[in-house]
Amino acid sequence: MSETNANVYDTVAPKMLEQYKKRIISDTHANAHNPQLINQAKFIISQNGFANELARNSMRLCHVYENSDWHSKLMDTLDIELIYANVDKMDGKMEEYTDNLVKELLRYFKNDFFKWTNAIPCSQCHDVDTQQLIRNERPNHEESKYECSGVEVYKCRRCHIETRFPRYNDPIKLLETRQGRCGEWCNVFTLILRSFGLEARYVWNKEDHVWCEYYSQYLKRWVHVDSCEASFDEPFIYAVNWNKKMSYCIAFNKDGVCDVSKRYILKNALPRDAISESDLWTVTAFLTTQLRDQMLGNEIYDLYNRDVREQLEWIEKKPSSTIENHNVPKGRQSGSAEWKSQRGENGK
Ligand SMILES: [Zn+2]
Repeated sequence: MSETNANVYDTVAPKMLEQYKKRIISDTHANAHNPQLINQAKFIISQNGFANELARNSMRLCHVYENSDWHSKLMDTLDIELIYANVDKMDGKMEEYTDNLVKELLRYFKNDFFKWTNAIPCSQCHDVDTQQLIRNERPNHEESKYECSGVEVYKCRRCHIETRFPRYNDPIKLLETRQGRCGEWCNVFTLILRSFGLEARYVWNKEDHVWCEYYSQYLKRWVHVDSCEASFDEPFIYAVNWNKKMSYCIAFNKDGVCDVSKRYILKNALPRDAISESDLWTVTAFLTTQLRDQMLGNEIYDLYNRDVREQLEWIEKKPSSTIENHNVPKGRQSGSAEWKSQRGENGK
């Protein structure tokens, strides 16, 4: 009996795939313990400011959203019944359920839960329009309990009294204050996604914006999610609609650190001169490998395949000219006109 090509494939392919899988897993562990690779990455991190910033960001952003006490606290704060009732009303196949959940979370968060803050209202007359930013200062003893990065102090032109706007980073404190700008919004929204057991990344842009990504099991890819704009799967909005000039966009989560610039910087690219491309690759690979070394083999293999698919997605990307035709409003939605103009995000 002679074997046809088909049954050669049936017997050989699974064995080769098994070998391939073993190789991916053992390479990940070997790289995580390879002194040469470790020393090289550590040297780059010690010498290059940008690499150092990524490493410092990773220490927080790759771990902070994995706190199960925080997940429970957050779930107690949200109107879960309303959220699920709204998801049930949405059209779509069963497989799209979690995509619809994320869309509803974006709606709920922007409309019902969190507030955008240009200036903090006056604590006496509660007016915002009379408020003037007079200085930035360091947090006081009470404020510094909640990872406060700094305090904006406003003075009311009418009452002549000062009101403080502490910029908190502690997401649980933010569940109480429920206000801020993109930093606060993205911080809490990443925790929301994780609290619902959804896979999420925190995306940091060098030109002062942050947003999220959510891994859709339905679409089999990472999906751009911006809570400030209630935006789902519109990765072109910054470069195309806002006309934002950008150089680097880096994603962080418990599974790795990944340069996702190609998904977002479709035009208006600033020079990538903060670090050499090979050094950036070495650093992100080092940080990712360290995070994955403790994982089970199957998990390492699945994440590796996901990374490969993501790289292919960028290679096959449609030209940006087709992206400009998207029927979305020009310019950024969140923030005052003056603030957007200062940041070069008003679409002009
Ligand atoms: Zn006032």
